[in-house]
Amino acid sequence: MATSWAPDSWIKAEARQLPDYPDTAALATATHRLATFPPLVFAGEARNLTADLAKVAEGKAFLLQGGDCAESFAEFHPNNIRDTFRVILQMAVVLTFASKLPVVKVGRMAGQFAKPRSTATEVIDGVELPSYRGDNVNDIAFTPESRLPDPERMVRAYAQSAATLNLLRAFAQGGYANLHQVHRWTHDFMGRSPWAKKYAETADRIGEALDFMEACGISPDTVPQLSQTTFYTSHEALLLPFEQALARQDSLTGDWYDTSAHFLWIGDRTRFEGSAHVEFLRGIGNPIGVKCGPSLEPDALLRMLDTLNPGRVPGRMTLITRYGFDKIEAHLPRLVRAVTREGHPVVWSCDPMHGNTVKAASGYKTRPFDRILAEVRGFFAVHRAEGTHAGGIHAEMTGQNVTECTGGAIDVTEQSLADRYHTHCDPRLNAGQSLELAFLLAEMLNA
Ligand code: PEP
Ligand code: MN
Repeated sequence: MATSWAPDSWIKAEARQLPDYPDTAALATATHRLATFPPLVFAGEARNLTADLAKVAEGKAFLLQGGDCAESFAEFHPNNIRDTFRVILQMAVVLTFASKLPVVKVGRMAGQFAKPRSTATEVIDGVELPSYRGDNVNDIAFTPESRLPDPERMVRAYAQSAATLNLLRAFAQGGYANLHQVHRWTHDFMGRSPWAKKYAETADRIGEALDFMEACGISPDTVPQLSQTTFYTSHEALLLPFEQALARQDSLTGDWYDTSAHFLWIGDRTRFEGSAHVEFLRGIGNPIGVKCGPSLEPDALLRMLDTLNPGRVPGRMTLITRYGFDKIEAHLPRLVRAVTREGHPVVWSCDPMHGNTVKAASGYKTRPFDRILAEVRGFFAVHRAEGTHAGGIHAEMTGQNVTECTGGAIDVTEQSLADRYHTHCDPRLNAGQSLELAFLLAEMLNA
């Protein structure tokens, strides 16, 4: 791969999963406008996240990354943002309290729109149309007009991301995330979950610790670590015309950053050798992730790490493994050994969602919760055996009481999938299942 890099050098490489815009003039107009818009994040924040992830790579912190499979224009509502933010905070409280490790919180939020698809077209009742590629590309409705890629959708996605990020920043810093509030972070329906009781017990114990500190003269309201939190954003850097338009040169360091989010990742379908997505991301300074599925060989991974992180900067690389509950113990050790042998500092994170998707008899795409937990257990078992840090979790989840993944303490059955199946793409954990996952993780981190 060429050593010189520019925000548009990806154009000469092989790009998969990008839409074919029929109107190239409209594409140019949209991307030129985006290039004049303010950055959504600034470079210093991305560097702070790299430093936080370096602690994870060292084994001194844990990464919690989660949110929708695909954000959508239709589900854009402050309550949805609040509920997902809240369940991530609850999970972080459980994990921090049990493991005594700081938790780095990263939302799949404020920009997670574009989706890679396994087929370029979709056939329903003999009618073939282009696949839905995310709300920043085309519309999910199955009509020829809806499925046409429209570049103006990128501008709308930018605006939605800016508003979402604004609310997340307000929640993180404006008092909502104050640890005094841990009791109030309840979800109406969680009352029925056995995990709600366990969460309330944890909240009680944190409350006691805060009361004790206050009696000693330390008011949590004046300690920023207790009254605020740091929350980062992330998405798959798939739609390269959009990402390129948000690439900006940092005035402080002269380095390029993708200012569309703090953290960007490359999907399992676009991480191949010679990929345009790898070419784009190698030149930007943000911390980046790579999804690692069963087809990734250790040698190819090492070459990719040399391309993406030649300086071996700790915190720069997060490897997000997604094998499936029955494959992880066969595949993961080979990668861990190769990376450890070469001395690459990486964060190992577990995506227990994408290798465990099945089709229910009713036709719904679902993920059995027990398989998700089994992959997490396998992930911890491999890292324990290899002497490496099981550093993080990457989950598709929502604060809403959806019925998309089967199982969990408030059992979602195959029959109840139809009740509240709202996802625009893959099935997500609901709030109760997410909290249940956090308690399992807490147990593993303590083992
Ligand atoms: C995703 O995270 O939504 C995704 C498409 O994952 P993967 O690239 O691992 O298939
Ligand atoms: Mn997905």
